[in-house]
Amino acid sequence: MHHDVIVLGAGLAGLAAARDLAAGGADVLVLEARDRVGGRVEQARLPDGRTVQLGGEVVGRAHTAYLELAEELGLKTVPSYVAEPGRMTRATPEGRSAGEPPHWFGPGDAALHERLTAQFVELADTVDPDDPWSHPQATALDRLSVGDWLRAQHATPAVVRLWNIGQLALAGGSYERISLLAALRKHTAVPSGGHYDYEDWEGLRLAEGSATLAEVLGRELGPRIRLGSPVTSLDVRPGRCTVRLVTGETLTAAAVVSALPVGPLRSVAVSGVGEARLASLHRQRQATAAKFAAVYATPFWRDAGLNGLSECEGVLGSTWPQSEGVLSALVPPERYGILLGTPPHLRTPELLAEIAGMFGDEAHRPLASYLRLWGTDPWTQGYVTQWPPGEVTAVGPLHGTHEPPFYVCGSDQWVAGYMEGAVRTGRAAAEEALRRG
Ligand SMILES: Cc1cc2nc3c(=O)[nH]c(=O)nc-3n(C[C@H](O)[C@H](O)[C@H](O)COP(=O)(O)OP(=O)(O)OC[C@H]3O[C@@H](n4cnc5c(N)ncnc54)[C@H](O)[C@@H]3O)c2cc1C
Repeated sequence: MHHDVIVLGAGLAGLAAARDLAAGGADVLVLEARDRVGGRVEQARLPDGRTVQLGGEVVGRAHTAYLELAEELGLKTVPSYVAEPGRMTRATPEGRSAGEPPHWFGPGDAALHERLTAQFVELADTVDPDDPWSHPQATALDRLSVGDWLRAQHATPAVVRLWNIGQLALAGGSYERISLLAALRKHTAVPSGGHYDYEDWEGLRLAEGSATLAEVLGRELGPRIRLGSPVTSLDVRPGRCTVRLVTGETLTAAAVVSALPVGPLRSVAVSGVGEARLASLHRQRQATAAKFAAVYATPFWRDAGLNGLSECEGVLGSTWPQSEGVLSALVPPERYGILLGTPPHLRTPELLAEIAGMFGDEAHRPLASYLRLWGTDPWTQGYVTQWPPGEVTAVGPLHGTHEPPFYVCGSDQWVAGYMEGAVRTGRAAAEEALRRG
């Protein structure tokens, strides 16, 4: 069967692209490896009606493409964990503190941290998020890790540790292994007063649960989506692209939109696409992470004046309240191997023990818990985009661009992943494909 456009992958990017293509009059088919839509957004439903988000969860007020799509679909946003009363916890092997400053700070560290944040924001203002390669010092800024830059600005080890614990809380990988240029680019894509302002990046969530957005798109597209259809190869020719499935079945289309994460895309044999483009796509990488969610009858952490938000140096890198009584947690890439090495029956009790160490013994007794190993999921092979030193230059200006009739989208094709990146690039790819007919 010949189609106008075949979209590879039914994550948020593929779904958003397919919706706009269909609305533009194209005959579109979406091929999805899994038996469900949504990719890295997924939810479980509890008997009491609550949903538990196992993947992408929060958005910020600056995530305009995502918020616009949610509004078009009639979905409502509510404040996320940022509205939770109480103090944030920091837990490290040598101690624990609630609120500011962190327990390892000495005299002068708070002021130094503030000064370096202002310097970082000022430097970010010089970077164009759509074209970081044009920065006069692009190569030098890309070669430096954020950790190296901090030390070059005379940051104390205590301040570097604060930046790092915050970064590991997001599970994006240590700032010792993140390019300064990539970090500046990410900041300037969503400009705000501070460094990673939580309101701008994470202040909202969908009232119905984030994965509801993918479910609604999936229902709208209906028979245009084929589930359980892993793609193994793709040949791109003007007017006729051929897609082969794992079953050996082939399908053809005038154009193809790849909405696959960069890891699984490397396993698809692609021909007919420029070498430089393929090299750029295959160069990209993701941070691996796991998400843990524990469901309690009540948000018991409030009893101790805490808000459930933590940055920690256990196997977990962070926790935050996902909704009333539901706690989310992330295992960052640096500790993902430790989790995999832990016998499966010990993983959940050990993660709960870490939470109990911060919030109290009640943490040992959740009503339900979920551990989702995204880093080793064959159809994700990661979590969010990761940009080590030198990588912005190596991936180069082909990042996020198209070679018609081959179009790319997906959160990896934006500055830093996120659901915003998926929706933004998905809709942009559809617009470009429709414009070119
Ligand atoms: C644990 C976790 C927490 C997160 N938290 C947040 C958050 O709070 N806020 C936020 O904004 N973002 C968050 N993210 C990131 C966000 O969820 C993702 O960036 C976004 O959902 C990715 O969408 P996508 O469509 O680009 O890719 P995906 O959702 O990965 O979709 C790609 C699709 O392609 C399919 N596929 C793969 N290989 C093949 C193949 N060979 N053939 C056919 N189909 C294939 C996959 O099954 C998948 O459905 C989180 C991600 C994770 C994993």
